[in-house]
Amino acid sequence: MRLLTELEPHPAIVRDGAPDCPFVLVADHAGNAIPRAMGNLGLGEADRARHIAWDIGIAEVAEALAQLLGAPLVLQHYSRLVVDCNREPARIDAIPEVSDGSAIPGNRALDAAARAARIEAIHAPYHAAIAAALAGRERTPVMVALHSFTPAMNGHARPWHAGVLHDRGDTRFSAAVLAGLRKRVAAPVGDNQPYAMDGIDFTVPHHCYGAGRAYAEIELRQDLIGDAAGQERWAQVLAQVLTEALSGPGAAPVRRVA
Ligand SMILES: [Zn+2]
Repeated sequence: MRLLTELEPHPAIVRDGAPDCPFVLVADHAGNAIPRAMGNLGLGEADRARHIAWDIGIAEVAEALAQLLGAPLVLQHYSRLVVDCNREPARIDAIPEVSDGSAIPGNRALDAAARAARIEAIHAPYHAAIAAALAGRERTPVMVALHSFTPAMNGHARPWHAGVLHDRGDTRFSAAVLAGLRKRVAAPVGDNQPYAMDGIDFTVPHHCYGAGRAYAEIELRQDLIGDAAGQERWAQVLAQVLTEALSGPGAAPVRRVA
């Protein structure tokens, strides 16, 4: 069974960027589309629009940041409730039955064929597009994984404006990004907060650990990137911090037309 029709977008929306850009940007949860064959997953409009379905605001930040850096960008178009592209696809929670208190009726008791169809239609081609973007560069690129997080979870407000997630592999770049954000942002910046990177993440471990690739996984708080002004401001901050993390303080991001 093919999940996506020919009229529906490919899961990976790819911007090419400049051939010599040292970064490749990815956003696993950039979209909240649901394949037509799946209806609305049994969800109301409010649940399909809230943070459980996607990373609110991150697509706009990623597009603006890609422009500032001249960076290649791979955005994932479909809701993470269809299949979470930052999870090992064999994990049961790659297709959650419940998320932040909302039951997902369309994900209940899926059989192996239904799970495989989602992975084949979305997870696999998205990660293939990332691999292609990383491979086709003039120099080994740093991967920057962009996410956003909800300001309150389980009744607890989250004080961080941003967070940097890291675990194994080459973490020097992540440490430099964390230091740079803490220098530039007059608010708490989380070190493995609001989430720690651990065995649950897929994108960074899959594309970076084995390859010895430098990376940063960056989380931005959704209320700060809910409008165009906030999105542009954070794109500017990240362009400066990422460039300095790679090249040293004072390095200016190069504006190129992607
Ligand atoms: Zn995310």
